[in-house]
Amino acid sequence: MAINPFAEAVASIIETGGEALKTCYQCGLCTATCPWNLVREFLVRKIIHTGQIGLLLEVGDEENWLCATCGACVARCPRGVEIIEIWRAIRRIAIEHNAAPKALRTVLSGIKAQGNPWNDTRDNRDKWAVDLGIDSALTEEHSELVYFPCCTPIYDQKARRIATSTVSLLKKAGVDFGVLGAAESCCGESVRKLGSEDLFQNLARANIKALEMRSVKKILVSSPHCYHTFVHEYPELGGAFEVLHSSQFFLQLLEEDKLAINRPYPKKVAYHDPCYLGRHNSIYDEPRKILASIPELELLELPDNREDALCCGGGGGKIWMETKKEERLSNLRVDQALKMNAEVLALACPYCMLNFDDSVLAMGKGDVLEVKDITEILDIVTGEGHHG
Ligand code: SF4
Ligand code: SF4
Repeated sequence: MAINPFAEAVASIIETGGEALKTCYQCGLCTATCPWNLVREFLVRKIIHTGQIGLLLEVGDEENWLCATCGACVARCPRGVEIIEIWRAIRRIAIEHNAAPKALRTVLSGIKAQGNPWNDTRDNRDKWAVDLGIDSALTEEHSELVYFPCCTPIYDQKARRIATSTVSLLKKAGVDFGVLGAAESCCGESVRKLGSEDLFQNLARANIKALEMRSVKKILVSSPHCYHTFVHEYPELGGAFEVLHSSQFFLQLLEEDKLAINRPYPKKVAYHDPCYLGRHNSIYDEPRKILASIPELELLELPDNREDALCCGGGGGKIWMETKKEERLSNLRVDQALKMNAEVLALACPYCMLNFDDSVLAMGKGDVLEVKDITEILDIVTGEGHHG
């Protein structure tokens, strides 16, 4: 479906939040920066130009759903164009015209009905906590600190490792915490990036209500996506909480001697900066400090690191969409780690974990490269507990 006439297309992008469209002066740095061009053609500048002059905007175009919102182009744009906002606006129009890909429509209706994107029920949402022996009564009690694991570790068995190691560390450090259980919903960060604004706002309001009912002051998150939306987006809807990513929280516990490292980890570890932890939120040092404090661990820096980190390809809702094998950005990252002879690819994001795990397996490298969240490594070197 195409939206025309020209002026109408531009106006609707601007109306739906794509004001940034006007400031682009077509230098093309965004196209040169976008990682998709390492695996396929993605002419970001040209698409922005198309929108600017109001040329036929194909709302059903597959390219409208390609951007992983990694932020690399935004960081380099000399005009400060909020390119992600343009994609968000285009997607919002596509959703209004019922032109989102079918698979995505299914994910979004699952989130609307059950509060999660993984085709599972809300009733199963606290199963992970019960499995880990967290007293389910805690879910009803008031708690200053809540651990909000993200839908991915809750419902995906592979990513469950992140919640398991996080809870193990919390117990070792004697931290008093609660969980929201079935009252928790998807944080909505990727939902918003997909242009589904009403759904995002409903999710955010439901979470804010659940947190406020339990007098929560502080939220511990495993996902940089949850972190991002809690810090930058929930306050505009009235939800103001102190938010800490696990890398910040556990570094603090180490520095306060509430958690003690008592084992070496004699491996070469390459740390991958998740886009929403690094580029979007400037949290680069905490994960590295944790890894650097572990005896015998050799910390390696991948070629594209910190501000220049290569995206895993999972943001912006991409984690819920199929990406062709030959177009997986995560394969490139795994390849970089392998070339450095890393034994472990360490990360701090559930989306990165799913993508890198898949790539390592698909590339047949499971015997030489492990993929681990930093909490998993920390759990191993802090003695008893879960050793994944
Ligand atoms: S880098 Fe910025 S100014 Fe240059 S083409 Fe892209 S959006 Fe436009
Ligand atoms: S945010 Fe990342 S994936 Fe999206 S257009 Fe920019 S560079 Fe490409």
